[in-house]
Amino acid sequence: MKGLIMDYPLTTNTILEYGNSVFHKKKIITYLPNGTRHEYSFGDMYKRCKQLANALTHKLGITKGDMVGTFAWNHGPHIELYYGISGIGAICHTINIRLSAQQTEYIINNSEDKVIFVDATLVPLLEKIAPLFETVECFVLLNAPKDFVTTLPNTLHYEDLLADQSEDFDWPVIDEKDACGMCYTSGTTGLPKGVLYSHRSTFLHATTIVAPNAGNASSRDTFLLIVPQFHVMAWGYPYMCLLSGSKMVLPSSNLKPETLIKILTEEKVTKANGVPSIWLGIYEAMKKNPPKEKLALEEYLVGGSALPMSLIENFEKDFGIKGIHAWGMTETSPLGTLCRLQPNHDNLSYKEKLKIRAKQGVAFPGVELRIITDDGNRAPHDGKTMGELQIKGAWTVSSYFKTNNHESFTKDGWFKTGDVSTIDEDGYMQITDRTKDLIKSGGEWISSVALESALVSHPKIKEAAVVAIPDKKWVERPLALLVFTTPQDKPSNEELISFLAKDFAKYQIPTDYVEIDEVPKTSVGKFDKKEIRRLYAAGKLTMAL
Ligand code: ADP
Repeated sequence: MKGLIMDYPLTTNTILEYGNSVFHKKKIITYLPNGTRHEYSFGDMYKRCKQLANALTHKLGITKGDMVGTFAWNHGPHIELYYGISGIGAICHTINIRLSAQQTEYIINNSEDKVIFVDATLVPLLEKIAPLFETVECFVLLNAPKDFVTTLPNTLHYEDLLADQSEDFDWPVIDEKDACGMCYTSGTTGLPKGVLYSHRSTFLHATTIVAPNAGNASSRDTFLLIVPQFHVMAWGYPYMCLLSGSKMVLPSSNLKPETLIKILTEEKVTKANGVPSIWLGIYEAMKKNPPKEKLALEEYLVGGSALPMSLIENFEKDFGIKGIHAWGMTETSPLGTLCRLQPNHDNLSYKEKLKIRAKQGVAFPGVELRIITDDGNRAPHDGKTMGELQIKGAWTVSSYFKTNNHESFTKDGWFKTGDVSTIDEDGYMQITDRTKDLIKSGGEWISSVALESALVSHPKIKEAAVVAIPDKKWVERPLALLVFTTPQDKPSNEELISFLAKDFAKYQIPTDYVEIDEVPKTSVGKFDKKEIRRLYAAGKLTMAL
């Protein structure tokens, strides 16, 4: 028997309409690429979304199912594009501005973008490859001065596009299972693959992450959205903030730690998101130059790479700010797990609590996790047995765009994450590695992530990346690349070995350490282990310690 409840559309339009009707006075603040501050309300943004919907439909001829690209920083107009494009049933394809020219050309042609909205400061990146675009009919310039000169063909200014457009627009009826957005994976482990989000998945992800156990967002909060809008829809925060009525602060390209601290201070930001390297940079800058007054910042949500226990501890000890750990993938919209302590942890020691907080956390409602071991069995929830993490849920990818990647899915419908992890008896998941990054030495697995976390807790180490290198006797051995806090005063090889001996068995401890200036990173700031292995194979990493 069917329930007798209305079939109400779970679409991005429902989110936008709600945000406008309940929180129209709430503000969106942008620090534009030229450093100037812009402020307007959800209500103003709403009207411009409708103008954009009219312009897309009547001026640019965009219709349902068309792909519209954005190549932009985090700012108000980019929020308008999220809602305006999806609102008419077209697909907002956010293009990662940090991919190589070759990857960018590949994804623009693969997605068949019809129009690309591009920030003036990013235009040079597209100019070089624009002649190779097969489907792009025009480019719309964002934040560009009137006299902006470019070799891009068929350009229009965003403000000219919106000018004279009506603020009335009737949203079309959209099937909630239709696509609303698309993001390609950042290609850490291969060619970027398109993940097509539906209105329903976006809506469900957004309503779920508002909760206190999750993003912990309310109308009293001010969120700084550091995660780029070009990466997995900024982790869903532009949707979450409209549902919770939280003020949004968007930094565009103002991402230097000192500038972010200034923004955090001036806007009295209470919560923020970002990858660990951003928060490490902010911590170091605050340590060097402590803010005169305590920041309003209560917590920062970290994902994308493991949040080191030492960073959680230091930020909290020195500035009273909490690090919250989350895990996800482009393929999981992205939030899959999040880590907060529960009342049953109250009696643990601070160190024991920290150990739990450094885990990636428990699954969100609407998401299921399991771990499959090498022999194909489901691992027990004992916090020890490692295996491949598999996921299914209401916002997990079911297939990649235009490809039949059967190898990414199991026969019984789970997505294979490529991450290796454990789950403990309370359901807390901990990533130990990526399948391709695991180190197998003398028949035993070694977790590169655990070694990295331990190494950066050493006061003289700023960054640590561990990869497997071939070894005649052990098949593979761990190699640690280290960036030192003060290169004049670095620990010796022996010191490092005895430092790690506190937590690791002898066979797990790297004997080889290399000093580098900076760990090579991917477009979204993760350690680029493919590149590290390539440098090693090319003999470009010498044993320095
Ligand atoms: P790509 O797959 O191209 O790197 P994603 O941003 O989708 O791009 O990356 C997802 C991957 O990032 C996960 O599969 C996992 O390996 C890693 N990751 C994400 N969050 C965490 C975290 N909190 N701790 C450790 N690794 C993480």
